[in-house]
Amino acid sequence: MLTTLEIGEDYPELRDSVRRICARFPGAYWRKLEDTQSYPTEFVTELTEAGFLGALIPEEYGGSGLPLRAAAVILEEINASGCVASQGHAQMYIMGTLLRHGSEEQKRRYLPDIAAGRLRLQAFGVTEPSTGSDTTKLKTRAVRNGDHYLVSGQKVWTSRAMHSDMMLLLARTTPADQVTKRTDGLSVFLVDLREHRGKGLEIRPIEAMINHNTTEIFFDNLPVPAENLIGAEGSGFRYILDGLNAERILVATEAIGDGRWFIAKSTQYAKDRVVFGRPIGANQGVQFPIARAWAELEAADMVCRRAAALFDAGQECGADANIAKLLASEAAWKAGEAAMQTHGGFAYAREYEIERKWRETRLYQIAPISTNLVLAYVGQHVLGMPRSY
Ligand SMILES: Cc1cc2nc3c(=O)[nH]c(=O)nc-3n(C[C@H](O)[C@H](O)[C@H](O)COP(=O)(O)OP(=O)(O)OC[C@H]3O[C@@H](n4cnc5c(N)ncnc54)[C@H](O)[C@@H]3O)c2cc1C
Repeated sequence: MLTTLEIGEDYPELRDSVRRICARFPGAYWRKLEDTQSYPTEFVTELTEAGFLGALIPEEYGGSGLPLRAAAVILEEINASGCVASQGHAQMYIMGTLLRHGSEEQKRRYLPDIAAGRLRLQAFGVTEPSTGSDTTKLKTRAVRNGDHYLVSGQKVWTSRAMHSDMMLLLARTTPADQVTKRTDGLSVFLVDLREHRGKGLEIRPIEAMINHNTTEIFFDNLPVPAENLIGAEGSGFRYILDGLNAERILVATEAIGDGRWFIAKSTQYAKDRVVFGRPIGANQGVQFPIARAWAELEAADMVCRRAAALFDAGQECGADANIAKLLASEAAWKAGEAAMQTHGGFAYAREYEIERKWRETRLYQIAPISTNLVLAYVGQHVLGMPRSY
């Protein structure tokens, strides 16, 4: 099947509406949130009311039913405007597991509220302190007990858990030594965070390099109703994998947004800042890193578009989604480095916002999956080389 890939400003009206909202949330807003490690409630509310965060929820469940590329464009514009896309990203994609694998009753119960912003499903608990990227070894257990599961264990880096009504949780329901494949025996649950704080559920904020509202979570025999199991018990790992390509594409396009912001700031500053009697941008030592970062960003953007086009056409896109994430995260970082160097000492002044974005964009090489793990995917699944783990 042929897929179409638009070059240039696709979804111009969508981009324009996002930019108009973002213009009301300047750097001072984000700096203040960082000072208090707070959640951008007003920003998220505006995006939700404009219908952007329900972009991927089908119309029959109250969303806008847009293609993945449109959702990616929304996130790109948020970051390209100097704002932060992570909360929007979470509200957009975490519900994907529910949408694809939930029962009709679960979908009718939760999706309209998520689309309308009445319910925040922005927390996703996969990573654990002792198992890291080796997800199938995770230790959090969910044991069936009548009409409930009892969950015990620990998650780390669960972002937004303090600000989310529900979380999507991956836990082991059958011990690893009782399954034939290590990917079996894991299950996905919707956990209501509102009901159980202090009663089998403890959430502790992690002080981090960026304001990501990230936490560690402790479960101690937390009762989760069996009706909150998504899909079949034991198939959870496959359900999570199913959603990863979409997430990679969204994250990659977000990184492109950061890169565009860095390049715009750098070129402007390089034209305006006069030292030794001429704009610093007239020096090739200043100009070329910005030009190179732009070239690499453009190349990464094309792969992001190709991955999204394949995804939206229902075609296999695992390789493209992973490569898009790899290239976009690195291109954004190079653009960030160019911006730091171009701004000289002023890059360190918080009011210029460069240092904040630089810290934020570094994350894309580590989360939701680190660069090495993407390279391992390409090496093994695309190029057929032996497995390293
Ligand atoms: C700010 C922030 C927010 C996050 N939000 C969430 C969230 O909401 N939900 C969630 O579940 N997780 C979240 N994470 C966790 C994130 O997904 C993980 O940090 C990431 O997947 C890497 O896992 P790890 O930190 O355990 O690193 P490790 O798995 O310990 O890896 C450490 C390093 O070793 C490398 N490495 C490991 N194994 C291999 C190998 N076989 N070959 C080559 N290199 C290897 C990795 O690439 C990495 O560079 C977040 C993390 C951060 C920092």
